[in-house]
Amino acid sequence: MPGLTSEVAAVAAALSLGAGCWWYAAMWPESQIFGPALIAGNNPDQIALTFDDGPNDTATPMLLDVLARHGVTATFFVIGRFARQQPGLVRQLLAAGHLVGNHTMNHPWLVTQPAAAIRRELADCNAALEDVLGAPVRFFRPPFGARRPVVFRAARDLGLTPVLWNVSGNDWIPDGVEAILENLGSGLDRNRRRNRGSNILLHDGGHLRMSMPRLDTVSAVDRLLANRRGEGIEFVTLDAWSI
Ligand SMILES: [Zn+2]
Repeated sequence: MPGLTSEVAAVAAALSLGAGCWWYAAMWPESQIFGPALIAGNNPDQIALTFDDGPNDTATPMLLDVLARHGVTATFFVIGRFARQQPGLVRQLLAAGHLVGNHTMNHPWLVTQPAAAIRRELADCNAALEDVLGAPVRFFRPPFGARRPVVFRAARDLGLTPVLWNVSGNDWIPDGVEAILENLGSGLDRNRRRNRGSNILLHDGGHLRMSMPRLDTVSAVDRLLANRRGEGIEFVTLDAWSI
């Protein structure tokens, strides 16, 4: 039955096109379809280093040393559960001039969570951070970059600006320091060609557990900062930009 087969194929194609559009809107870091998110400004000489999934009792102190040695401040999207375990590290981030943002309480996949659970994840993380920082949290990055309109609404209701990224070190793949640097280099070059600033996604922690080894990330950051010295690059925190 060729007619039926082609009809089935057409329906399958339509469904997969729909799924493709949904995936793009929900998962592509630079998509703005489900709501506006902060990515970067238009100055190609500005770079924001951002680190997710900490605080991490092994990697975060090493990273703080590297950043201090290079005189660079960064943005840390912190998991509320880990902030409750390591409040001293969160305090150190603030004391060193870094910006601290909300990365939910437990790092769930927000695309599949009911609205009330999304609001709770964001509010609980805000409470955990504000208890330590004594100041309101202003930025939020959804775990895995996964979002849908209700995620943006919950963030807005809590006064949080949603943030995504436009360069990824892909440092969750255990490929080593060179691979992370290559990923960063190609993303930075692409943004420069487009006359955009760069918002770099890296990880000082791992959402599955505390004490995730992130030595490759720390080394890659050290080398990136050493390589870019003298290139007229300004390393900024995300509050340098707005949507
Ligand atoms: Zn994360």
